[in-house]
Amino acid sequence: MIDFQRILTSINEAASKEKDRGKVADYIPELAKVDVNNFGIHLIDSKQQSYSAGSSNKPFSIQSISKVLSLSMALGLIGDEVWKRVDVEPSGDPFNHLSLLELENGIPRNPLINPGAIVIADILVSQLENPKEEFLSFVQNIANDHTIVFDLDVAKSEKRTGFRNFAAANLLKSYGNLNNDVDVVLDFYFHQCSLSMCCAQLTSTFFMFMNHGKCIRNNTFLTIPQVKRINALMLTCGFYDEAGEFAFEVGLPGKSGVGGGIVALLPNKFCVATWSPGLNPKGNSKLGMLALEKLTTETELSIF
Ligand code: GLN
Repeated sequence: MIDFQRILTSINEAASKEKDRGKVADYIPELAKVDVNNFGIHLIDSKQQSYSAGSSNKPFSIQSISKVLSLSMALGLIGDEVWKRVDVEPSGDPFNHLSLLELENGIPRNPLINPGAIVIADILVSQLENPKEEFLSFVQNIANDHTIVFDLDVAKSEKRTGFRNFAAANLLKSYGNLNNDVDVVLDFYFHQCSLSMCCAQLTSTFFMFMNHGKCIRNNTFLTIPQVKRINALMLTCGFYDEAGEFAFEVGLPGKSGVGGGIVALLPNKFCVATWSPGLNPKGNSKLGMLALEKLTTETELSIF
């Protein structure tokens, strides 16, 4: 039996001693207010046993981690039609790169970079009557937790400074790959990214990706082929131009956000979330990456 609790406790101890903690994102002004010294980790195993250390119950802005959830909802609504509007190739570019420019056909490289996630947001805006409310209850139902909310200050803050996302959405519109108004789609996207969760809530939400599409209450949200595809996308695209490094150091499908969260999973075994708001130059949590490297090395559990 692996002693997950001992390992998480020692990861938290090492993190608390770390001096060089990276830099908190400040291009969304509201995120710049978060204390860089926070660190939390939570792990849930296949039998739903939980282990945690540090500030695992303190909510933070999940940002790009939400892209996996919006993709899941879009797949449930229109299935493989999604892939006509967004590709599935790693970009090797930063999250905010306008990589659809180089393709010159308006099809973003994958749904986990910003232009791809904006196309997914457009699909949800078209499909849903009350997009923000319905997306929020989709997430609450998966997590079995109705206390999960949007952080409206963060959404407002990003709306004021999200110039590059406006550029991406306008570019998509010019290529005919955005059916709704730019403002409406981005309002949805900024709210989606502002979802506020703690590490424990993130592992409850992402449990279904390690459990064949069945959430913690055993309700089916995704088919097995859909889970396979989403996990493949997390592995190849979940960390932008650092996806190779994450596979190399950690060896799990996962997703990061500029709020400093990372969620990762080993199918049939465990789902883990870390939070440390200081980012490395590629926009991924510095201590989160180190923590997960330690976890998979010490437990000898990775997909490889
Ligand atoms: N909302 C952020 C943005 O669009 C998400 C980026 C991220 O978490 N990598 O810039």
